[in-house]
Amino acid sequence: MHDGDEPTDDIDFTTTSQQPQLERATFVMLVRNSELHDARSSIRYVEDRFNKNFHYPWLFLNDKPFSPEFIHMTRSLVSGNATYGRIPKDAWSMPDWVDRQKARECMRAMATKNILYGGSESYRHMCRFFSGFLWRHELLVDYDYYWRVEPNTQLYCDLTYDPFTFMRENNKTYGFVINLLEFPSTIESLWPTVQNFSREHPEYIHPNNALDFIVDDNKNITEGGYNNCHFWSNFEIASLKFWRSQAYRDFFDFLDRTGNFYYERWGDAPVHSIAASIMLDKEEIHWFYDIGYRHHPFTHCPEPKQEFHDSGRCYCNPTQNFDRDPYACTTQYRRMRGDLGVPGRVPGIPEQPVLNRIDRGKGSGLRTKLKMSTDGLELMPGDEGAAQLQKIEDGEGK
Ligand code: GDP
Ligand code: MN
Repeated sequence: MHDGDEPTDDIDFTTTSQQPQLERATFVMLVRNSELHDARSSIRYVEDRFNKNFHYPWLFLNDKPFSPEFIHMTRSLVSGNATYGRIPKDAWSMPDWVDRQKARECMRAMATKNILYGGSESYRHMCRFFSGFLWRHELLVDYDYYWRVEPNTQLYCDLTYDPFTFMRENNKTYGFVINLLEFPSTIESLWPTVQNFSREHPEYIHPNNALDFIVDDNKNITEGGYNNCHFWSNFEIASLKFWRSQAYRDFFDFLDRTGNFYYERWGDAPVHSIAASIMLDKEEIHWFYDIGYRHHPFTHCPEPKQEFHDSGRCYCNPTQNFDRDPYACTTQYRRMRGDLGVPGRVPGIPEQPVLNRIDRGKGSGLRTKLKMSTDGLELMPGDEGAAQLQKIEDGEGK
């Protein structure tokens, strides 16, 4: 609060004695210079809803050097320190065992099928980076936790506590706000690879895991198929210790060796979600139900009126809450939690109707872009694949 401001109901952290004890934690944003204003918008949301009272640092990462303009225009918005880092080349390129020609052909084929980002090489670098390299970056060595922030995302609710402290005190490892179905066409061989990994490393499979979130009908990893449920990783509050563990390193290396971050288009979201669901105690996974959040095209808006809306704490529209959408995996998450009726820490969430596959596809805001196939979701034919194809032909591979 600056001199002359009217007093508000905010907790006043401005005096030294009330300065909160910070965790070893940071915001992380991977971003391009061209996304400056979308980045500024996200920063503003995070600062206004939370960080203006805490002053956690921000770490901005890029595969290219940040422009002086980007640095100036983001530093001016943050209330903690801002650091700007480059991603090392090996963390943003095809490893040498990937056949470049084959990768190019796979990208071309996926672009022809209009698979989202199917023709993009940089998108694949990004997914592989979040899966296997963020947590090794030298600018993260001093941290135990990170909160991933993407450009052009919104936060709708005041956060009155420190989620990093919450993670530490409650022994949480992975926190999310939105869960949903992945496009099966991007991860065709991911689950068989995970099944092979689990056969090779049964010692890494946690006895109290969250497998029921990602596998239906009570089946185990080898018997069951992947139901495509995952945590949407554009928002993540997570422990770096888990990603740095031998178990996760072996998991990532096992996946990476297949080359399928490139031949297919494995996303960091299903990779993180599957790892968390099989290798963690299910109690270590936390739904930050109370964080109202939007990343296009989905909004998570906490529903209980008294707790979140009457008080003015949130300003999103609860009727737009994605949790009830047939493309969300709320039902599977609740099943995994033992359907105790309490997602996250928030009591009194109304019961969700149990959705079956036939219900899926009704009433979704994504209807214009997606169609149902027997396997799940696919992108509707559009111009995107053709545009990407052109770029592959032009050698841009973006
Ligand atoms: P989507 O959310 O899956 O549609 O993908 P985005 O385009 O939002 O990319 C995910 C995140 O990675 C965002 O934070 C982007 O700013 C970042 N990102 C994606 N591609 C690149 C890239 O080529 N360079 C950099 N520096 N950041 C990227
Ligand atoms: Mn995004």
